[in-house]
Amino acid sequence: MTMELNKFDSWIKDRIKNEEIVKYQDKGKDFIPEQEIISKLELNSKKEPDPLRIKDILLKSLAIQTLTPDETAVLLNVRDSNMLEEMRQAALAVKKKVYDNRIVTFAPLYLNNLCVNNCMYCGFRKDNKTIKRKILSLEEVKKEVEVLAGKIGHKRLIVVYGEAPDTDIEYIRKTIETIYGVKVKTKNGWGQIRRVNVNAPALSIKELKILQEAGIGTYQVFQETYHHGTYDKVHPKGTIKNNYQWRLYCMHRAFEAGIDDVGIGVLFGLYDWKFEVMSLLYHTRELEQRFNIGPHTISFPRLEPAFDSPFTQNSKYKVSDEDFKRLITVIRLAIPYAGMIITARENAQIKKEAIPLGCTQTDASTRIGIGAYSERYDEQEKKRQQFLLGDTRNLDEVIGELSQMGFITSFCTAGYRCGRTGKYIMELLRSGKEGKFCKLNAVLTFREWIDDFAAEETKTAAENIINKEIEEIKKVSPDIFSTFIDYYERIKQGERDLYL
Ligand code: SAM
Ligand code: SF4
Repeated sequence: MTMELNKFDSWIKDRIKNEEIVKYQDKGKDFIPEQEIISKLELNSKKEPDPLRIKDILLKSLAIQTLTPDETAVLLNVRDSNMLEEMRQAALAVKKKVYDNRIVTFAPLYLNNLCVNNCMYCGFRKDNKTIKRKILSLEEVKKEVEVLAGKIGHKRLIVVYGEAPDTDIEYIRKTIETIYGVKVKTKNGWGQIRRVNVNAPALSIKELKILQEAGIGTYQVFQETYHHGTYDKVHPKGTIKNNYQWRLYCMHRAFEAGIDDVGIGVLFGLYDWKFEVMSLLYHTRELEQRFNIGPHTISFPRLEPAFDSPFTQNSKYKVSDEDFKRLITVIRLAIPYAGMIITARENAQIKKEAIPLGCTQTDASTRIGIGAYSERYDEQEKKRQQFLLGDTRNLDEVIGELSQMGFITSFCTAGYRCGRTGKYIMELLRSGKEGKFCKLNAVLTFREWIDDFAAEETKTAAENIINKEIEEIKKVSPDIFSTFIDYYERIKQGERDLYL
């Protein structure tokens, strides 16, 4: 027991490389100026913002320019219902300009629930004695992927890891390699995971280089809360995660390691939501200024009940549904090029209302118990998972609804495989040019999914969307239409993974 404790303690002690924090700080200070943020919010909360000022700000969002902190503080304080409606319309227009009517789908794959940290809101925290701990073996990872790619039809995953010596960077590397190696027969072709995004602990530059070599898509880490005092309170002292600065600068380290596709986020419900939105903007502007690249995605999970984690019930900062929709609208307007991820933590109704406000990605058929895709254990599942889900619908149901709403589901993973990442993708997104490729690849990958996995009813709605898209492509991209249609027909014959 003592031996085990010593092993853990020395592992924990060596995790944080202080020199990989201080080199990015400005004379020991980080880039979240709390007092400045609070003052800007207070200043703007005193009176209803001037409609002309709001219109100017919306024009800037529509030109796909990142807003300033002052402009964002103005939008966060709008209460007038007409102005709020104008903001929603502008958010929708920004989303359309950058991402058109596409929604990308993915599934989370939880690899382990072992963790040396003790985050008060998380079912995996080390003091939770009731949870059943498990680390997937490589054979089990393979089985999970066979279901995800062969039976459900996913093509991209976000893999999720706790922080523990037995699931260190070597384990992460091997599991990613295993995932990319699985190829399964489907009804009319074959299925494979083509993009693995990673939600892992804050890593060192050396470890991030290993992730980069493993061929990951996005490296995603949420700050949880940018408020220093609250961060300290919910991440108990003596844990790795207690170090705010180590986490705050992990995207700086990622860029330095050569990963140019990063995802940031906040766990909404730990502190005041307006402060957190402002901080997401400060984080974005810091990355833009220093590396010329902003976040590829922004996540905004809300605190959900977690097994044996009473803190999740008691937080005074829980975000109402109305405020949740407001924060999505403001993020879409403040950081207009970023992908925005809404997850199955939210229930079906909220997702339906929130997606048109600017979301670009969502998960479906989600199971967050360890090993839960290949092994069914419903009654015990809550003992293996991190929190409770709001939307347990399968991918077919979600796609059916999105099709009815006029959205095309995209399984496209071509961007990063064609080198459209980092600064290059930022420019394409800002100028609206990425849409050209995305539209074509969305149709090609959606066709694959329909032919392999769609239920009859979903097929009809999905094909209506596809036919409309093909007509648009004919008009908008006559130069590549013949290549596109050739790929489309070949996919119908069972070829897979053709992209532009
Ligand atoms: N261990 C890694 C970390 O903490 O970054 C990655 C995995 S953690 C399982 C992924 C994310 O789940 C966390 O960053 C947190 O935002 C979110 N999360 C944790 N507890 C939650 C809860 N009760 N409700 C909603 N989201 C939660
Ligand atoms: Fe561990 Fe992450 Fe859960 Fe914290 S949020 S206890 S670090 S798995």
